[in-house]
This record gives sequence, C-alpha cells and structure tokens, in this order.
Amino acid sequence: MLKSGSTIGILGGGQLARMLSVAASRIGYRTHIYDPNPDAPAFDVAAFKTVGSFEDWMLLQDFAKQIDLVTFEFENIPHSTLTKLEKIVPIFPQKNALSISQDRIQEKRFFESLGLKTAKYASVNSIEDFLEAITKLKLPSILKTCREGYDGKGQLKITKHTMQDEVIRHLLNGPCILESYVNFDKELSIIIARNEAGYVASFDPGENFHKLGILQSTTVPAQITKSVQIDAIVIAGKIVNALNYVGILGVELFITFDKKILVNEIAPRVHNSGHWTQNGCVIDQFEQHIRAISGRSLGDGRRHSNVKMINVLGNEINQSMNVSNAAVHLYGKKEVRDGRKMGHINYVYEKKPFL
Ligand code: AMP
Repeated sequence: MLKSGSTIGILGGGQLARMLSVAASRIGYRTHIYDPNPDAPAFDVAAFKTVGSFEDWMLLQDFAKQIDLVTFEFENIPHSTLTKLEKIVPIFPQKNALSISQDRIQEKRFFESLGLKTAKYASVNSIEDFLEAITKLKLPSILKTCREGYDGKGQLKITKHTMQDEVIRHLLNGPCILESYVNFDKELSIIIARNEAGYVASFDPGENFHKLGILQSTTVPAQITKSVQIDAIVIAGKIVNALNYVGILGVELFITFDKKILVNEIAPRVHNSGHWTQNGCVIDQFEQHIRAISGRSLGDGRRHSNVKMINVLGNEINQSMNVSNAAVHLYGKKEVRDGRKMGHINYVYEKKPFL
C-alpha cells in the first residue's frame, strides 16, 4: 500500500486531474501534475507541478523520479512515453488498457474476444475500403478516426446526403473505422473499479444524454430493468478482469429497443459520466481510483441518492454561479469557449427505486 504522504503523479492537468488531486489529498497523498498548459486547471490544487510536453523525455524523467506512482487523466499519451516511464515508476492503470482504448479497431476486437457485442464495423483506410464497407454496413453509419477522437471529434455521420469529398477529407485524418449507426433506446455507462488484489466494485449504471457527441447529462438511476442493469455491470466486470485492470474504468454501452447491450468504448480513467458519484455516493469515482491505484481496499460504491448530473458548457458558467439548490463543481478554467466543459452540477434527490 502506498504510504501516507506519498506523491502520486498525474499526466494531464484538466478537470479530471483536478478532482483526482482533491480526492488524493483527502486521503493523505500529494499530487504532482504534468501538463503542457501553464494554466491547466489541476495546477491550482496540486502540491507540485511540471509544465512540459508529453514528448520531452528529460523533463518526464525528472517528473518520474519525484513521484511514487503515476496515473493519467486522458487516453492520448504516447505509448513510447509510458514504456519509458514504467521503467522508473509504477503506472496504473497499466498501459495495455490504454493502448487498447487508443485504437477503435483494436478495442472492438478486444470486446469480440470476450464474446461481447458491438455495432457492426469495418476498418477503412481508403475510399475503396469505404465503398466496400458501406455496401455491407448500409446507411446511416458513422465514420470515426481510429485514434485521438473524443467528445464526438473525428466523427462523420454518413447518410444519403454525404458527399464523397467529405469522406475523402475525413480519411486524410488517418486510419478510420466505419460503424453502423445504432438506433439505441438508451446510452449507459458503467464506472467500475478494480484493485491489484482483484476486488471489483461498480457504481450504478448512469444514463447518458449526448448532443453532437458531447455528454450533456447523466442520470441515476438509469431507467432500465434490473436484468439490463445486472448484465451491464457483468460486462464491465468481464472487461476489467480480462485486462487485469487497476483503477477506475468507464465502459460506454448502447441499449437497443429489444434490450440488447452493445459495447461502444472504454475509457481507462475517471469519466465525465461518473461525476454524479461525488454527491450520490459516500466514496466517489475519484477517491475510488486513488484507493485502487494506491493498493488500498476499495470503497463502498453504493448510491445513497438519486442524482442528475448536468455539464456546464461554455457560457452556461454564468448562470451556474447562481444555482443554490444543487452541488456546483467548477473547474477554474480562465477561457470560456463554446461547448467547453467549464463545470458540472449535481442535482440530488431522495432515493426512490425506479422499479
Ligand atoms: P464515441 O466517441 O464513440 O463515444 O461517440 C460519441 C457519441 O456519439 C456516443 O456517445 C453516441 O451518442 C454517438 N455514437 C457513437 N457511435 C455511435 C454509433 N455507432 N451509433 C449511434 N451513435 C453513436
């Protein structure tokens, strides 16, 4: 177990690192944040900071020598950086989960290897591949870049109105995946933790609502049957066990109208759709992550309240300042941009069972 007073390094200094840092300090650790942006939100609440690029090996080496273990708040850290870092300091979650989640094709194959269902898909590297894939998958479908997509970026919905030029332009971004468009009833996410001893704890499934690929809200309890709830958690459990995972993992699922569960993607980190746990559970996803990676026993994931988490995007920050009947969490970002995640609000209600 990581000793009290030890320092946890965090790669990336956005809001997730900020909230991880607060949770770590609450249970006796310091954090050292590494981020290229001198205004990174997590710097405000960390004991130590380094401003530097994820390619600057000299600086990363210095950082690694000052910390007792390292975690990360986003997926797009170069694999080579982690390979070098892990020779100096333990990394949790391990880099296998990160490399699977960095490539959408690899990720889909991994789900299939566990017998899990996904949307139909094909690998697309050229316009010829695309034309062949579209005859199999039909319209509508979604063309996604295999790497570095988040919040709906790098995605093009393909309908009968899509022009070939648009597809060609999209393919210039690198290898892509074409997925059939799932006409889902609900989108869920499971926030699940596993520690090195193999104990697993899941939070209740959250029901997500996205607009233009950006998460707007998560509601618990999700309006799903008990059997979908259990199956969804079992799927997430299968994934963390197969990866021998340590930390919090976010698993995004589509529930179809005939109650099939398709796995969309995984995020090997704390997740926006798990922010409700801050006010709905005694131990939230941030503390649970720190507990898992520091070798502590996992906390109780039970939910004591119903919660609706609403993201505060762009200019909505101005109204959010006046909210007084809910828990307002703001990230301290100086620059307001359209659609930028500035904070979130957890509306908490008395727990009443849905079914
Ligand atoms: P992703 O980056 O894959 O999580 O996609 C962002 C959001 O786009 C998802 O949360 C869904 O709302 C939507 N989306 C992604 N893939 C599909 C799909 N194959 N069918 C329908 N909607 C999708």
